[in-house]
Amino acid sequence: MNRKYRKTVIAGNWKMYKTPSETKEFMTEFKSIMPKGRWCDVALCVPAVCISAAVRAMRETRVGIGAENCNANASGAYTGEIAANMLLDAGCKYVILGHSERRAMGETNVDVNAKVLAALENGLIPIICVGESLEQREMELTMAHINYQVRAALSGVDAASLRRCVIAYEPIWAIGTGKTATSEQAEEVCREIRAIIRDMYGARAARGVSILYGGSMNAKNAAELLAQPDVDGGLIGGASLKPNDFATIIAATGEANE
Ligand code: PEP
Repeated sequence: MNRKYRKTVIAGNWKMYKTPSETKEFMTEFKSIMPKGRWCDVALCVPAVCISAAVRAMRETRVGIGAENCNANASGAYTGEIAANMLLDAGCKYVILGHSERRAMGETNVDVNAKVLAALENGLIPIICVGESLEQREMELTMAHINYQVRAALSGVDAASLRRCVIAYEPIWAIGTGKTATSEQAEEVCREIRAIIRDMYGARAARGVSILYGGSMNAKNAAELLAQPDVDGGLIGGASLKPNDFATIIAATGEANE
């Protein structure tokens, strides 16, 4: 983390877990134990049907609520889809885009880019996920793959809008597997992502962009991962479902007693 130049962000990804009632219960418990300092931004990205309960519960807090996907179109005949402006109107601040679980369902780099542009146009903060498969890592294609994904996701995003983007490095082999990247592996790729941004937007923009690590981050390993200079926070799946664990990860960003 480097708090001098960029925000630390801890974001939860609830995936398809929790109902609106369970959301309410989580928020009540989480609010009572949430670290109170303002040293990092906290986001909880929840299933679409839980957004309104989450927004209502966290209204007076610093926790921003997010969605887990959006449609790239402003409106239209897209049954079952949700547009970025609808998420904003529902009280969302963030939206996760390009998660590997959605890419596995057929989402392409072109789709991710269109969604990023739609999110930015509508005032949402996109949390843009990139990450290699185990096969790509073993074939030493990690950096080439990440390079392509980052450049594709940010195609047409101007420098002013980049400042509102968060990038999350999520190696697919580490998501939901309990197999966390080592802090060296996480740092190496997050540093490379910053170098790509530097090449695209210049040194100042690169210094200011928050790059998160995601993939089996938990209450035990968070501090070590977050201590890396280019790891500006975490995107957390499983551990964000438990109020205590999520609060511990937030506290691990430091100054928990601020
Ligand atoms: C995720 O889904 O983005 C994620 C990082 O999941 P987990 O923390 O469970 O590996």
